[in-house]
Amino acid sequence: MTHRIAVIPGDGIGPEVAKVGVRLLERIGLPLQFDWFDFGADRYLKDGTILPQDFLDTLRRDYDAVYFGAVGDPRVPGNEHAKGILLAMRFELDLYVNLRPCILIDDRLSPLKGKGRNELRFTVFRENTEGLYTGAGGVFKKGTADEVAQEIEINTRKGVSRICEAAFAFAERRGMARVCMADKANVLLFGHGLWRRVFAETAQRHPAIQAKAMYVDALAMDLIRQPEAYDVIVTNNLFGDILTDLGAALTGGLGVAASGNIHPGRISLFEPVHGSAPDIAGQGKANPLAMALTGALMLEHLGYTREAGLVQSAVEEQVREGARTPDLVPLLGGPASSTETVAAELLDRLTART
Ligand code: ATP
Repeated sequence: MTHRIAVIPGDGIGPEVAKVGVRLLERIGLPLQFDWFDFGADRYLKDGTILPQDFLDTLRRDYDAVYFGAVGDPRVPGNEHAKGILLAMRFELDLYVNLRPCILIDDRLSPLKGKGRNELRFTVFRENTEGLYTGAGGVFKKGTADEVAQEIEINTRKGVSRICEAAFAFAERRGMARVCMADKANVLLFGHGLWRRVFAETAQRHPAIQAKAMYVDALAMDLIRQPEAYDVIVTNNLFGDILTDLGAALTGGLGVAASGNIHPGRISLFEPVHGSAPDIAGQGKANPLAMALTGALMLEHLGYTREAGLVQSAVEEQVREGARTPDLVPLLGGPASSTETVAAELLDRLTART
């Protein structure tokens, strides 16, 4: 069976890294069909298109995954097209798991003294469809001295339950021992009280996994002190947003950070954590490794675990022995090379493994 993948390269460095990612995945020789779509700033500025509704229907009907570069362009004020494209897919496809592996691939990428590959290997499950990110709320008496602004945090039993379940199921599948839930239940009594109760109920269904609930501030501190104490972290949209940036910084930065926006068993979207990086776009400096690792996550989702491992190990070897883009030079040393040079070496490493 051929898996169909919609490629949306997007803006800025998105197309530069998407090209590398697809070349890499094609090299493995799996039955994957890549179809390219031009949604992004150029298209938006040309004819006003953000993301047509029939495209979402097509995705649901005909595709298994979306391989996404990045969106964001200084020519579009407020980047409304970017929000339209990503948020529409996230909500309409109900991609409730934001999966972010924070796994160090080389000791030299760690900013923490004495913490290397054996210590930095946790994965964050961020709830991706509710919390403080639904747009619920409003402003009253705007612009006056009496202005009132309200942001409403949405926590549903269904939403909390399914992300907790996904985190425990992942830990079980991977043979991991521990799941930690991060909240602020000491002050956010109602919403985070629900998280505590649902987490405890989910933990009861998975007695082999050690479950621990923590306040997010304590967890942020502990992730720096003893990251080795964590395998899987599950949390809400806002805390996940913050903790995963911390996780990216602990494991080599945006150049090597991958993510999945997943609805288990359905079409899901895979994107590097980085944005469109307008400051370096078109200069041949973008690090393609995050996109490559994102490809590995997508392969895993599609059931190609062995091939995902091949991509992962080619990237690890590239970081260990190969050329690097300028963003990794402060951590790895050596001269800086271009996206193209890194891509060519990476392709060779993958070829040697297939
Ligand atoms: P967004 O709001 O989309 O996250 P941003 O500008 O905050 O946009 P990025 O676009 O990810 O975030 O860029 C942040 C910084 O990291 C920039 O200086 C950018 O050049 C750098 N950067 C991001 N991705 C890469 C990459 N793949 N390779 C090299 N540098 C990168």
